[in-house]
Amino acid sequence: MPDAHQGDPRRRVPRTDAILADPLVAEAISRHGRDRVKQAVGTAQQQVRDGALTPDDVVNATLAALPLHRSSLTPVLNATGVVIHTNVGRAPLSTAAVEAIADAAGYVDVELDLETGQRSRRGRGLLAALLRRVPDAEAALVVNNGAAALVLATTALAAGKEVVVSRGEMVEIGDGFRLPDLIASTGARLREVGTTNRTTIADYEDALGTDTGCILKVHPSNFRVEGFTAQVPVEQLASLGPPVVHDIGSGLLSPDPLLPDEPDATTALRAGAAVVTASGDKLLGGPQAGILLGRADEVERIRRHPLARAVRADKLALAALEATVTGPPAPVTAYLHADPDQLRTRCERLAAATPPELNATIIQTHGVVGGGGAPGLTLPSWAVSLPEDCAARLRTQPRPVLARVDRGRCLVDLRCIPPDADHLVAEAISQLP
Ligand SMILES: *Cc1c(COP(=O)(O)O)cnc(C)c1O
Repeated sequence: MPDAHQGDPRRRVPRTDAILADPLVAEAISRHGRDRVKQAVGTAQQQVRDGALTPDDVVNATLAALPLHRSSLTPVLNATGVVIHTNVGRAPLSTAAVEAIADAAGYVDVELDLETGQRSRRGRGLLAALLRRVPDAEAALVVNNGAAALVLATTALAAGKEVVVSRGEMVEIGDGFRLPDLIASTGARLREVGTTNRTTIADYEDALGTDTGCILKVHPSNFRVEGFTAQVPVEQLASLGPPVVHDIGSGLLSPDPLLPDEPDATTALRAGAAVVTASGDKLLGGPQAGILLGRADEVERIRRHPLARAVRADKLALAALEATVTGPPAPVTAYLHADPDQLRTRCERLAAATPPELNATIIQTHGVVGGGGAPGLTLPSWAVSLPEDCAARLRTQPRPVLARVDRGRCLVDLRCIPPDADHLVAEAISQLP
């Protein structure tokens, strides 16, 4: 209530610097930028002058006028042309997956059979859906991420024993995450065979013995060795006896003709792999998750290992992954297969809507899979080319647009922008001059 002694509240408009010093407002500046917050303060001050707001409510009105983010994670428009971009959260989820997360957010029957009232297998609907998509797998298990799937499989099958792996597959996957270190952490010993560029079946044979826990084949996702090379296909490794764990990484469940060099779970299992491990949020286009598919006895051994509990998948991830596996193609799939002619048309429209001061042009370019997938593959694409300094300014818009800087130009590639969001990119660009 306005205090009668202090007179007309319109005369008591709080000062801008006092409002900006409020801790909540200061926090909002760090998220939304000073200009945006000052604009909201100005609007609230005007409401006090108009008598529509009491002076005490200016801070709340300022915060309420800012775009709603329920967490500090800011939605970003990915105009880099990189489909699976780890820095912006890898795979964007499908609408079905987002709805599944909302459905699972409250109490759900994740480990309960509503018919019998008994406890049931966690995420059983998802496991059944995975087996329908990959009939060559007898059993499935889902854990927290791909690295956890690999650690769990090698721990359960080879702790205290040897994991036999080719020197050509001793890779670093990214962000300092190195396969040899990961295996060492499991209590299994790494038995390296062959050389960086060539490993033969005889190299594996020489290393096998009573100490062998499993043979590990790792897809060296993010690099290629070219020239004088040799590696042993899964078919031959499977004939050696010990179980073969194949870390395919990308999460393709069956072959994709666009990605001929990417391994997939169906092909690996048909070739004789005992267990395949993969990520949920790479080419599969789902949430962060680690997927294990394979023979019933091996998957059961892995599932029963005590470590399995420590890498258990969250119910929200289980829900999103099931919706991804059972639903229409995920956004990642649509972006990978985007038609270059349609991308060109969209770029032309965007360039036409761009303020003339920016001298926008259209150029032919290429997107990439990213996320350590298909390193040699480029996706023919088009982009709107802007002055280089636009990149940083687009990134700091209220709805940030992440463009790519290439040879002194800021390239806006629409491949990974949902077509119904082109206007948001146009809006951000229109703020630049
Ligand atoms: C990405 C990747 C991993 C790690 O999977 P995360 O889901 O990132 O934990 C492991 N192996 C390979 C071959 C990969 O490409």
